Amino acid sequence: MKGEIARQYLSGRHAVVTGGGRGIGAAIARELARLGSDLTLMGRDTGVLEEHCAELLADFGARAIAVACDVRDEAGVATAFASARQSYGDPYVLVNNAGQAEGGPVTQMPLSVWENLLAVNLTGTYLCCKEVLPAMMLAQAGRIVNIASTAGLKGYNKMAAYCASKHGVVGLTRALAMETVKIGITVNAVCPGYTDTDMAQKAIDNLVGALGKTPDEARKMILRVIPRGTLIQPEEVANAVGWLCSPDATAVTGQAIVVAGGEA
Ligand code: NDP
Repeated sequence: MKGEIARQYLSGRHAVVTGGGRGIGAAIARELARLGSDLTLMGRDTGVLEEHCAELLADFGARAIAVACDVRDEAGVATAFASARQSYGDPYVLVNNAGQAEGGPVTQMPLSVWENLLAVNLTGTYLCCKEVLPAMMLAQAGRIVNIASTAGLKGYNKMAAYCASKHGVVGLTRALAMETVKIGITVNAVCPGYTDTDMAQKAIDNLVGALGKTPDEARKMILRVIPRGTLIQPEEVANAVGWLCSPDATAVTGQAIVVAGGEA
């Protein structure tokens, strides 16, 4: 097992993962638990979060709590982080993973879709960063990892709002890295390609609906975008996050690390 050679370099350290109950966020929570951290998992569906906390305890002996949080809601984010701090102290790691995706041509995109994607993916990331940074600055230590996307680095057809929000996350990451570079904090983005989660399944379903493809044809269309020809696994994204939180990555900040099987 990989754990046999792992150093538990996050032992006794508090990590917050937004959207930590399923998909990529759940895999990140597992990796950080394996590395020894105490975890706060945030999201809207606390039932899913609580189940995952129980798994982390059973599999790794990790302390983990579920905290209800809609990252679009400034007051709710403040309350959630207060609750997280009360349980395990100031976070050393923040992973901004919560996200949503929706496609469609710009001319037919309702303003509500545009505003929602920017609110969840970009403003949510900013709000959570603001919650952890004061204590990280005082401690002169901390790791922030923002889960952006290859859509933060290139354009995809009919994905304007999602691409804009993820480019924003990469820009926020780079700027915040400069703001904190002299005080022991690192801020990086991880940019996955199509990853095997509910979100990628939704993209396949959308292709079926929009283009009249069969599910198999739609899946092949997506796989053609990835040079290695298979979807990225959530654990592959989580491994990059774990490394960014390690003592080996102290000089890595302001980066957008692509985990996409050769894409981008
Ligand atoms: P999923 O749809 O599987 O999970 C999304 C997670 O985000 C859920 O845990 C969900 O929890 C949480 N979430 C959504 N909206 C909110 C909100 N308003 N407040 C708090 N939490 C929220 O997606 P993935 O795991 O695939 O995606 C995770 C991240 O990775 C996202 O940022 C996504 O953009 C990014 N990404 C995904 C790719 C893919 O192909 N899958 C590729 C590139 C990037 P809940 O519903 O309980 O709130």
